[in-house]
Amino acid sequence: MSKTDVRYGAELRKRARAVDRSRTRAYECPKCSKKSVRRVSNAVWACRSCGAQIAGGTYSLFTPSGEVAARTVKDHAKTRAAQAEKSVQ
Ligand SMILES: [Zn+2]
Repeated sequence: MSKTDVRYGAELRKRARAVDRSRTRAYECPKCSKKSVRRVSNAVWACRSCGAQIAGGTYSLFTPSGEVAARTVKDHAKTRAAQAEKSVQ
């Protein structure tokens, strides 16, 4: 049963349960790779083992749009590094 009092519709209660599960489960830490990252508050996640604080989604540590953003940042860093190398030569 979901903590929130969701009424009127099995599908809505099912979705609330899924959100609850994703919000309360422990995720693998990107730093120490232990399964001990838990939700602190809205979009704030912290590792109970190494103390790392991570910005994630509201109800889950990773979101599809967050992964797109991370990839964009990574690609940008790669491009910048290549440009820096080119200007040295
Ligand atoms: Zn950790």
